[in-house]
Amino acid sequence: MLFEEVAKYYEKLEGISSRLGMIDILTEMFKKAKKEEMKPLIYMTQGMLAPPFEGIEIGIAEKLAEESIAIATGYSKEEVEKSFKKTGDLGVTAEQLMAQSKLKRMTKEKFEAREVFERMKKIAQTSGEGSKEAKIKELAELLASSSPLEARYIVRFALGELRLGVGDATILEALSKVATGERSFKEKLENAYNICSDLGTIGEVLVEQGMKGIENFKVSLFKPIRPALAERLPTAEEILERMGGKCAVESKYDGLRAQVHVDKKSKRVEIFSRRLERLTDMFPEIVKAALDETKGNSLIFEGEAISYDEITGQFRPFQETIQRKRKHGVEEKSEELPLHLFAFDLLYYNGEDYLDKPYEERRKKLEEVIQGNGTIRLADRIIATTPQEIDRYFEDVVSNGLEGIVAKDLKARYIAGARKFSWIKMKRSYKGELTDTVDLVIVGYYTGKGSRAEFGFGGLLAAVYNDKKDMFETITKIGTGFTEQMMQDFKKMLEKIKVEKKPARVDALIEPDFWVVPKYVITVKADEITKSPMHTAGRHEENGVEVGYALRFPRIVGGGIREDKSPEEATTTKEIIEMFNQQRKTKLTDAAP
Ligand code: AMP
Repeated sequence: MLFEEVAKYYEKLEGISSRLGMIDILTEMFKKAKKEEMKPLIYMTQGMLAPPFEGIEIGIAEKLAEESIAIATGYSKEEVEKSFKKTGDLGVTAEQLMAQSKLKRMTKEKFEAREVFERMKKIAQTSGEGSKEAKIKELAELLASSSPLEARYIVRFALGELRLGVGDATILEALSKVATGERSFKEKLENAYNICSDLGTIGEVLVEQGMKGIENFKVSLFKPIRPALAERLPTAEEILERMGGKCAVESKYDGLRAQVHVDKKSKRVEIFSRRLERLTDMFPEIVKAALDETKGNSLIFEGEAISYDEITGQFRPFQETIQRKRKHGVEEKSEELPLHLFAFDLLYYNGEDYLDKPYEERRKKLEEVIQGNGTIRLADRIIATTPQEIDRYFEDVVSNGLEGIVAKDLKARYIAGARKFSWIKMKRSYKGELTDTVDLVIVGYYTGKGSRAEFGFGGLLAAVYNDKKDMFETITKIGTGFTEQMMQDFKKMLEKIKVEKKPARVDALIEPDFWVVPKYVITVKADEITKSPMHTAGRHEENGVEVGYALRFPRIVGGGIREDKSPEEATTTKEIIEMFNQQRKTKLTDAAP
C-alpha cells in the first residue's frame, strides 16, 4: 500500500465529523492492507512506532523538523518559522512549502507506507554523537521526495502529533468490520486487546489466523495486561450489599500503579504503568526486588509504588512519588525517597494464566510468592462481613495518611481493562458533598480576555468519556486555578494539537475558540454536579427538555496534565451520573431532621 494512499485516508479522517464515518474510512483502509502491512499501518494510525510499552518514542523536536523542512524545500529556517507561526501546525507548513518548493522535487518511485514507517523508526532510534544532524538529514531526505500531502503527515508523525483523534476503540471497531463486516465482533477483539495491549499484534493475528486466533489469545510475559479498574460507592453498607455480605477490604495506596513482569531465567524485569508505558528504568530498586524477593520462575503481579517513610511510618503524597518520572537522577531519588511496592494482585505465575481464577485464589498465591518485608510487600487487607468492620478499617488507614480502601469481590476473576463492581473504592473525600475530584479530557480552549489576552489563553472546555459510545461529552468550561506559568504551558501544548473543526469523537453544543484532539487529562475539583442544557455529558430528556450534567465552580487542581492517564481513562459519563445520584442521596439525608 502506498503511503500516498494512506495520507489520503488520513485527510479524509480529518475531514469527517461522525465517529461512524471514521470507522468506515479506517475499515476501507485496513481492508486494502496486505498481511505484513497491517501492523505498521495500525501503529502509524495510532501515531506510534510501536506499542506504547516498548518505549520507542517518536516526538522529534519542532526546531529539528523545521530545519528538515528548510532543507527539503529550499526556504530559510526563518521563513519556515514564520509560516509555522501563521499555521500553528508544522505539518501544514511542510505541506504548503512543499507545494511551493524552491527546489525540484526529487524524482523517485512512490513510497510504500511500510518504507515511511521503517524510515521514521530509524530516525527515532538514531542516538549518540551527531544524531541530531543525522535525524535532520534523514527527515529532510524523506520530505524531499514526498508530495505536499504526504509531507503534512510525515511531519506530524515525526512530531508525535497526527491530530487524527482516532482512539483504540475506534480501531477495534474497524478491525471488527474488516473481519466480519459488522462491529459486533469488537468485544472479542477487545478481550484480546485487554490482555496484550498491542493493537498492531491484534490486527496481524486477525489477518493471519482469523477469528480463531483472536479467541485463543493468551497472556504473555512482557506484554502488559490492561489494568482492572475500580467502581466507587460512598458507604460501607452499599459496598457490602453489592458484594453479597462478604468481601476483602484492602488499603488504597495513593502512589503509582505498577505491573511487574519477571522472568528469572533471563533475569529480565519490566515494569509498566497504568497507561502501559515502560517504567522499568524509573524504579531500579523494584527491578532488583522483583528478582530477589519473589518466588517462582516467571510471574506478573500488580501493585502500587509509593514513597514511604520508614521512620515516621507515613506515606508520602502521590506528587512526591512521581517526581521520579519528571526528574532525572533516578539514582539519587531512589536514595532520597525510597519506594515500596505494595502488591495487590497476581496475574500470571510459572506459565499459568491467573486472570480467570477467583480473587481469593490469586491473593493466596500472591501471599506465597511474596513473603518478605523488603521493598516489595503485600497490600494490607482484612476480610469484612459487617459495615462496621469496613468503617473501622477505613478510619484506620486514613489516619495513616492513605487515601481510602478498595473492596474486592472474593469470587471475581481479574477483569482486565474494565471498571467493574468487583473492585469498589471508597475514598476519604467521598463522605459529604462533592469533594472528590474528577479527571476530564481537554477538548478545546479559549483565548484570554482582559489581563489574560497576553497569554492567548483564557480557559478550557473539558469533557468526560462515554465509554459506551466511545465519545467525549462536554461537562464544563474551566477558567480558574491556573497560574501564569500554567497558562503559558497550556497554550503551548494545546496549540500543537489544535484542529480546524470539532473532532468526530467529541459531542458538544458549545464552541470553544479552538478545538483540540482529545489527548490531555486534567484533574478538576468542583462544588457540585448540576444539570445544564449547555453540556452533553449524560444528555437526556427531562420534562420535555434535553439536559446534560455540568460542574459548578470547577477549578483545575494538581498543577497540570495527568500524564498517567489517557483520555479513555478519564472519568466516565456513567461515573458522573453515579456521583450525581450519590450527591443527591447525601443531600437528602443531610436535610432529614
Ligand atoms: P482511582 O485511580 O481513584 O480510580 O483508583 C484506582 C487505583 O487505586 C488503581 O488504579 C491503583 O493504582 C490504586 N490502588 C491503590 N491501592 C490499591 C489496591 N489495594 N488495589 C487496587 N488498586 C489500588
